[in-house]
Amino acid sequence: MIYDLIIIGGGASGMSAAITLGSAKEKFEWASNKKILIIDSGTSDVKAASFWNAPGIYVGKDGKELMDDMHKQLDQYQSIDKSHDFVVNLEKQEDVYLVKTESNSYISKIVIVATGLQKFNIDTSLISPSVHNRIARKGKMMLENDNGFIAKNLYVSGVAAGHQTMFAIASGDGVRIACEILEEWGGNFFVPHDVSKK
Ligand SMILES: Cc1cc2nc3c(=O)[nH]c(=O)nc-3n(C[C@H](O)[C@H](O)[C@H](O)COP(=O)(O)OP(=O)(O)OC[C@H]3O[C@@H](n4cnc5c(N)ncnc54)[C@H](O)[C@@H]3O)c2cc1C
Repeated sequence: MIYDLIIIGGGASGMSAAITLGSAKEKFEWASNKKILIIDSGTSDVKAASFWNAPGIYVGKDGKELMDDMHKQLDQYQSIDKSHDFVVNLEKQEDVYLVKTESNSYISKIVIVATGLQKFNIDTSLISPSVHNRIARKGKMMLENDNGFIAKNLYVSGVAAGHQTMFAIASGDGVRIACEILEEWGGNFFVPHDVSKK
């Protein structure tokens, strides 16, 4: 099977992209058949945090609870595949990407890399890691990109794109990249909105 999109990394940014795309799959006929997979190794920085300043999130929420909530949110859109695994290799072969994990191999037309800033362990010549210069702590990294684009159909989002390390920024960037992909698929400007019934 060829996936339309694989998201590597399921922290704030990757999960936010996946939730947006899951919502769009239910709302737009042209998106409904898109095959999407999110692969995550489970070490999101969200799990180390306690959130007192993240807009819209209740004061003092534990990061692990927030991650659980994002998984529940994504699970309402059952058409997104999830895999707990570690991506070890990324290659391009003609028009598709080959994503190799510790236990499987996948093919995808589009890839979003949302692997955070701790380490970049994927063996690939497609991506150039560099020093993350928007964080005081030394030794953190980002992936060279132009406003989220690395190459055709290869995106980076969240703190791996070099953004400031705040939940809302990483999450919002995942949503932004998801909307860019929706525009490409739908051929117009599309945002998946739900409307108040009150
Ligand atoms: C201690 C601490 C406290 C914080 N406090 C706050 C706060 O109070 N307010 C606030 O707004 N922000 C806070 N943050 C920042 C916030 O957590 C981050 O900005 C946010 O998590 C970044 O999201 P991300 O998706 O870019 O990266 P992450 O959430 O780190 O997600 C990256 C994901 O990629 C996965 N991954 C990496 N490599 C691979 C691979 N090869 N294969 C598969 N998966 C992979 C990881 O397992 C991880 O789940 C805090 C962070 C820390 C560490």
